[in-house]
Amino acid sequence: EISAEPQPLSSANARNLIDSVEAFLFDCDGVIWKGDKLIDGVADTLEMLRSKGKRLVFVTNNSSKSRKQYAKKFHSLGISVSEDEIFSSSFAAAMFLKVNNFSPEKKVYVIGESGIIEELELAGFTGVGGPEDAKKTADLYLDCSIEHDKSVGAVVVGLDRHINYYKLQYATFCLRENPGCLFIATNRDATGHLNASQEVPGAGCMVGAMCASSEKEPIVVGKPSTFMMDFLLKKFEFGCSKMCMVGDRLDTDILFGQSTGCKTLLVFSGVTTQSNLQDPSNHIQPDFYTSKMSDLLELLGP
Ligand code: PLP
Ligand code: CA
Repeated sequence: EISAEPQPLSSANARNLIDSVEAFLFDCDGVIWKGDKLIDGVADTLEMLRSKGKRLVFVTNNSSKSRKQYAKKFHSLGISVSEDEIFSSSFAAAMFLKVNNFSPEKKVYVIGESGIIEELELAGFTGVGGPEDAKKTADLYLDCSIEHDKSVGAVVVGLDRHINYYKLQYATFCLRENPGCLFIATNRDATGHLNASQEVPGAGCMVGAMCASSEKEPIVVGKPSTFMMDFLLKKFEFGCSKMCMVGDRLDTDILFGQSTGCKTLLVFSGVTTQSNLQDPSNHIQPDFYTSKMSDLLELLGP
């Protein structure tokens, strides 16, 4: 039985959890990998869950890649997944436009990387900006006659390692001057891991810049927003109570799992420590916690 207090994952409740859920939703960074390095025991654990017939889904807030690019990353790390098991915030941004009947005649200005552009194009939209504006310079701000495209109907902001003043200015014009222009953020994570050792500024940093200049607030499509759950539910014949969200971050993964009614398992292989969990200022409590996801395998025993 699940109580209000988070419980350490024991053999008994690992067994119960696996028996009682049909699908495991895994956050990626901090659970599957750290930057570009696979976390120990992940491949065997996923294989065990698959052999028990569990559905697996991977939900990442990192918008830099498309689902196709993520599938490649999984394969290069020796894990077999299919593209439709991956839900990235880049895909969520494209799906948000789709379900809101965004006109394919309009353009989408992107502060972000190729993952967002790819997903927009797969969904039938035209993404502009992003990598193609990486080298544009801001000299034009001396000459304030920059013309922006009035047919831009949405600005999507995600992680952009080539953000520059030109992009900020262009997106600001779109948001301030194009009537009804949507402001979509893939996610607002403050930081992330692009390699195994270093924490780097996340999309929250780029989103924050755009909030300041546009004086608007974005629609967030990544975790903890529940938007992606609508898509996940279409894949399955069962509801959220038959799912377990496994994540390393309280304010994105665990909150996402809880607000959609999934069971939740916090792992300490990413950004959260046991003392963060127990800190009185933390109000987000998972059902279970453990050091790493492969404990699910080890606790089952031989
Ligand atoms: N945003 C950025 C820029 C990141 O580097 C990461 C992790 O690498 C994330 C977000 C969070 O990704 P996830 O949801 O897989 O933990
Ligand atoms: Ca994570």
